[in-house]
Amino acid sequence: MEDAYRLSARTNSMPEICGRICPQDRLCEGACVIEQSGHGAVTIGAIEKTLTDNAWENGWVEPIRPASERKLSVGIIGAGPAGLAAAEALRQQGWQVVVYDRADRAGGLLMYGIPNFKLDKKIVERRIEHLIDGGVKFVLNTNIGTDISFSSLQNKHAAILVATGVYKSRALQVPGSGAGGVIEALPYLIQSNRRGLGDQVNAETAANKHVVVIGGGDTAMDCVRTAVRQGAKSVTCLYRRDQANMPGSASETKNAMDEGVAFKWLAAPLALHDKDGHVSLVRAVRMRLGLPGRSGRQAVSPIKNSEFDLGADMVIQALGFTPEDMSLVCANLKLTPHGTIKAHPARFETNIPGVYAAGDIVRGASLVVWAIREGRDAANAMHEYLQKQTAQMAAE
Ligand SMILES: Cc1cc2nc3c(=O)[nH]c(=O)nc-3n(C[C@H](O)[C@H](O)[C@H](O)COP(=O)(O)OP(=O)(O)OC[C@H]3O[C@@H](n4cnc5c(N)ncnc54)[C@H](O)[C@@H]3O)c2cc1C
Repeated sequence: MEDAYRLSARTNSMPEICGRICPQDRLCEGACVIEQSGHGAVTIGAIEKTLTDNAWENGWVEPIRPASERKLSVGIIGAGPAGLAAAEALRQQGWQVVVYDRADRAGGLLMYGIPNFKLDKKIVERRIEHLIDGGVKFVLNTNIGTDISFSSLQNKHAAILVATGVYKSRALQVPGSGAGGVIEALPYLIQSNRRGLGDQVNAETAANKHVVVIGGGDTAMDCVRTAVRQGAKSVTCLYRRDQANMPGSASETKNAMDEGVAFKWLAAPLALHDKDGHVSLVRAVRMRLGLPGRSGRQAVSPIKNSEFDLGADMVIQALGFTPEDMSLVCANLKLTPHGTIKAHPARFETNIPGVYAAGDIVRGASLVVWAIREGRDAANAMHEYLQKQTAQMAAE
């Protein structure tokens, strides 16, 4: 078991987290030829989780103890999986690592996005304590670009990693979407996670409400399943494409169905109606799938005279995320037309020497396993860069 754990930990900084929340049906298990031949793949996720949980219990997860301390320091902006994976790899090499985050707890979406029932927060906290014990410093409640300028970080650290994720919600563009009771997915999930962590939260819950969640991704599935747990009277998911075209994990959709969530596929909202300023009804229209567009996905169009109404006293918008304005963090970073940071695909260097970027802010809204991988790859490139800087300083 110990050897198996070590092998599994060689390529992943948090196998017990990936084992719990990766969509294995789309990734490793789905790609397995045994799965494709109809015999069912080995349950890779469950194995990763068990091996690493077992390793923690038996004390096989070794503390981070660098062979020697190095002088230069690294500033990491963002304590999500990309930032944490990079912090661990760089600290193991002996560099001084400081992680900055605007949130009051480290973990990024592992802590505040993904619900407790999918990922117990103690599992995330254990990883953060492991980093603190290994000498990684965390500076929380600190927004880079507002509380501390990017240039002051550049003066303080020999290299910087930007791992800030993507947090701008796509807004629902229909009449009535400003009514009370119409809320965004992420604040709703954050508040729910905060309650689970024991914080005092005053925001409304889904208890005793008819809830409609708009969207078909993993965030939408997290919202419907959270609403069920909060005691909603009914939970309906409205998605404009069909089940086969849902972007979320198939197993999460199945879980939601098993828990009693009603799905209205091929349906899009037209307007939200309110009673005394609070949402009371969603007017929706049936959609039809057309030919694939440029992206390869089938286009959708509304079916005439197919409108229908759904009673609702809470509407949650889960339409995906785009990057925030990164020029507010650093004005000189080169961005892509999508607003993500332009970085080298393997080394994750940006256009500014010594500044690297990884995770969702490079790839766009994606998955934890990619954030970890990119954080590790960026850390390798940063290690080389820092070694060169050290040699140069010695030569001067
Ligand atoms: C609701 C939800 C559920 C998800 N479920 C899954 C799942 O089940 N499985 C899966 O694989 N993926 C899931 N994902 C996607 C996954 O969480 C992300 O792909 C992953 O967390 C990205 O990691 P990251 O480190 O790039 O960014 P994040 O995890 O977003 O972390 C970024 C951090 O940067 C901080 N930050 C941002 N700007 C600043 C600033 N200016 N100054 C200081 N700090 C800053 C933020 O506070 C945050 O802590 C989910 C996403 C959401 C929204």
